[in-house]
Amino acid sequence: MTTKKLSAGDIIEARCTKCREVLNHRIVAMVEEKVVRVECNTCLGVHNYHAPAIAKESKTPKKTSTAKPRSTSAVPRASRKDPVEVEREEWASLSPTFDHDKALPYDMNGRFNVKRLVLHQTFGIGLVKAVIVPNKMQVLFKDGIKLLRCL
Ligand SMILES: [Zn+2]
Repeated sequence: MTTKKLSAGDIIEARCTKCREVLNHRIVAMVEEKVVRVECNTCLGVHNYHAPAIAKESKTPKKTSTAKPRSTSAVPRASRKDPVEVEREEWASLSPTFDHDKALPYDMNGRFNVKRLVLHQTFGIGLVKAVIVPNKMQVLFKDGIKLLRCL
């Protein structure tokens, strides 16, 4: 935005259609406050006024580098820990929610669904994390996830 008033005969920067550069031009014609025709000081060609700023902006599109998407801490908090340690911690955090009355005694010929509580003779109470075909399930026990046989 130019605050100073321009008038015919003034020298302004404009984009020259012949030189293809932003050069000093002399104002030839104005309509009210707007410069409409200019004479190039370099090639002396007279052409319509092209604002230099517009030409520059079209060449360099606005970069939104500041709005770079932040990786929302994709790395798990316990990434450097031993996986078994992580599983133990998971069990410890879940165990208060375990309803021991609902735990099914583990039976290698039993059917277990995910999130089912299992009571194992050796490993104690555990939570079925996943059922994997064929006939295997991952159960989270106090000592970590064990792979158990099931139907
Ligand atoms: Zn020119």
